[in-house]
Amino acid sequence: MFTALVVEKDADGKTHAGVKQLPLGDLPPGNVTVAVEYSTLNYKDGMCLGSGGGLVRTYPHVPGIDFAGTVEASDDPRYVPGDKVVLTGWRVGEVHWGGYATRARVNADWLVPLPAGLTTRQAMAVGTAGFTAMLAVMALEDHGVTPERGEVLVTGAAGGVGSVAVALLAALGYRVAAVTGRPELGDYLRDLGAARIIARADLSEAIKRPLEAEAWAGCVDAVGSVMLARVLGQMQYGGSVAAVGLAGGADLPATVIPFLLRGVNLLGIDSVMRPYDDRVRAWARIAADLPMAQLEAMIRPATLADRPGLGAEILKGQVQGRVVVDVN
Ligand code: NDP
Repeated sequence: MFTALVVEKDADGKTHAGVKQLPLGDLPPGNVTVAVEYSTLNYKDGMCLGSGGGLVRTYPHVPGIDFAGTVEASDDPRYVPGDKVVLTGWRVGEVHWGGYATRARVNADWLVPLPAGLTTRQAMAVGTAGFTAMLAVMALEDHGVTPERGEVLVTGAAGGVGSVAVALLAALGYRVAAVTGRPELGDYLRDLGAARIIARADLSEAIKRPLEAEAWAGCVDAVGSVMLARVLGQMQYGGSVAAVGLAGGADLPATVIPFLLRGVNLLGIDSVMRPYDDRVRAWARIAADLPMAQLEAMIRPATLADRPGLGAEILKGQVQGRVVVDVN
């Protein structure tokens, strides 16, 4: 038997979640079985814990889009029992049962070895959100954004992606401006490395002019919509924006003028289908570049039973930093 947080759907279409004991035979097909130690809470988990938001196809469902743990059984030559592994993406926790359980059965192709220097708890403090923040920073680097080029902006800064992006960029020597709608979290963001705080309201009004004063060499954007449109118009000549999220909306009420007149780059960041080599490279960079004291400051511990309430919180943008779930 194993323990899982199971989401079920009533005949009237309503979903409800509860912690249950299930036989191991209920695990989905896969060639590696992992004894899960930690999972986390991401925006998508909030959706999968509630109505599903179109992500979950069948019920009963075990959410949890990421996990870290120890291989218990493997039919794949790349992994043997006792190996420490991490999983993010591949639609695990959406169409495949995920990490909110003491066991997960998955395809070996979806796993990466736990990077040297990280514990499974630290890996999940990073989780999908932090892994994606690293991919965004690497994309900015690949497009020539360096600390010497000027200030960088992080939107949705007090959330999971934002918190890790602030800490990473500051540790890499960038001067970081952090956009937040929660001014009370200014000290938290400064402790992560933000040099200054920008009020969400300053970037919440629709664009009036396609170009504003050139302010940012780079940006990690977790918000989208009006805020991304405003940021595009504020980029320095040749600057780059890594578009990660849609916490403020999936639309983009912008013009193409920043691309045409300032050579601004809008870089799409996907973490879900990322090829294996990129994943290994990003996790190695996380282990090398993310200060562990700052990571620790982002952690809010939780258990499986806390999940449903926390799912609603993250959808309202009320979670600070990274929620780490000890599933045992
Ligand atoms: P969080 O909820 O932890 O963070 C989002 C932050 O955005 C909030 O904390 C808040 O920050 C800000 N925010 C929330 N609502 C609004 C709003 N209406 N307008 C402006 N700002 C808002 O989520 P995550 O960090 O886990 O994820 C952030 C986004 O990135 C999500 O949209 C998620 O789906 C996406 N994502 C994408 C991935 C990919 O592969 N591309 C992978 C992981 C996440 P503050 O309070 O500081 O203003």
